[in-house]
Amino acid sequence: MAKDLGPACKLCRRESEKLFLKGERCFSPKCAFERRGFAPGQHGRSTGGRRGGGSGRESDYSRQLRAKQKARRIYGIFERQFRRYYEMAQRRRGITGLVLLQTLESRLDNVIFRLGFASSRGHARLLVTHGHFMVNGRRTDIPSMVLSAGDVITVRDGSRDGIYFKELASFAEARNILPWLNRDLKNLSGNVLRLPERAEIDGNLNEQLIVEYYSR
Ligand code: SF4
Repeated sequence: MAKDLGPACKLCRRESEKLFLKGERCFSPKCAFERRGFAPGQHGRSTGGRRGGGSGRESDYSRQLRAKQKARRIYGIFERQFRRYYEMAQRRRGITGLVLLQTLESRLDNVIFRLGFASSRGHARLLVTHGHFMVNGRRTDIPSMVLSAGDVITVRDGSRDGIYFKELASFAEARNILPWLNRDLKNLSGNVLRLPERAEIDGNLNEQLIVEYYSR
């Protein structure tokens, strides 16, 4: 299970953009990228965040690698598992890059985040590993579980009395959900209606470059 890819804010600074890995903090003045928007490390400031510190054009390989690393960091996935998702996408029917993104979006931790039941994917992973959710009536603690259309996610009965879940409906209400998901805040449940379309997935991801990276 991908749970620790290093300090989250450092990852944003390394990618030279906000990856929104820390929930509400990312929208506050406490955001490290707002305060120090240069790459971490001794030469981060002097290079203006450029990889390798050079002033020349970025190579194709470098752009492909960055696109892959960014997606991996956004979804919080280790390299081995990310490659497995790519290989799975390759075997499936459809456009490999889109199938890859759809698979990443269909992970249980991402769906819980998208439903507004957690402030970030990392937070969602924590809630799942602590056994607070059920999928189709069965308790699960596997954040990487890939969901399909029709799957139902509910907060476990034993968790509903906790302070977090008691207050969840009131703050989740402010979070919009995407059209491929359905949410029932009264019952603290949600379900997957269908796979997301490309326009419903982060436009900032470049799946074509990821495919090129793995096709080298
Ligand atoms: Fe990135 Fe969020 Fe940290 Fe800002 S607060 S640097 S957006 S993880």
